[in-house]
Amino acid sequence: MVKEMKKFMTLCLVALLALATLAAGCGGGGDKKDAKGDPKAEKVLRIGCNADFAPFEFQDVSGKEYQGFDMDLIRAVAKEMGYKAEIQNLNFDGLIPALEADNLDVIISGMTINDERKKKVDFSDPYYKSGLSIIVKKDDTSINKFSDLKGKKVAVQIGTTSAMEVKKIEGAEVKEFNSSADTFLELKAGGVDAVVNDRPVNDYYIMKSGVTDVRRLEELLTSEDYGIASSKKKPEMKKQIDAALKKLHDSGEYDKIFKKWFGNG
Ligand code: GLN
Repeated sequence: MVKEMKKFMTLCLVALLALATLAAGCGGGGDKKDAKGDPKAEKVLRIGCNADFAPFEFQDVSGKEYQGFDMDLIRAVAKEMGYKAEIQNLNFDGLIPALEADNLDVIISGMTINDERKKKVDFSDPYYKSGLSIIVKKDDTSINKFSDLKGKKVAVQIGTTSAMEVKKIEGAEVKEFNSSADTFLELKAGGVDAVVNDRPVNDYYIMKSGVTDVRRLEELLTSEDYGIASSKKKPEMKKQIDAALKKLHDSGEYDKIFKKWFGNG
């Protein structure tokens, strides 16, 4: 009987040790597990974005490949962390709920770090400086700054800082759309007087779409930092992301990616 007990205890100890090794491996990276801890699977980082936000995240003409500054950056971050990048395309306002429901490990989507979001997710160190700007029709001389939006119809994307900020402008009529592409279409169609969006996205639209009848106003309403979001329940994830970002800065890889999408500007 004593012998049996001893054997049982030894077995328990072995099992405990095995578990401890597994748990220690979770935060470390480099082992063969996905971010949910399945030991058989290749480690996969489930990344969420709203792929309608060029030049940060968008799909090429065939609609397959995810492209953009954020996409290159997160692939490099995932590689540093020892994960395979798996990118999913969701509505912008569905990203944080998907992370909270553990359907995603991280969000990279030109997402501004703000206090409201910080209550729900952890953000990495800032990786890009942005701000909000206005696009209007070229022949519309009545809008030259944000306060001129009073009494005007303004298109914004749902759940974004643009939506939050324009709602604060007294007398502005806010029309919300699922994507930034839809806000540009609405301006073109004459359904709104202005579009408010992140400046680099407005600039890229003007540069790439070939539109000639719109102009971007110089004034920036805000100064915003983009961050990579991860779950508050997995604080080690934020640490790993920050470490990876630092490595990419130190190695010059971040600058390479930046130059590819923004030149020297
Ligand atoms: N930076 C803005 C925000 O965080 C817009 C992001 C987006 O539309 N992808 O709200």
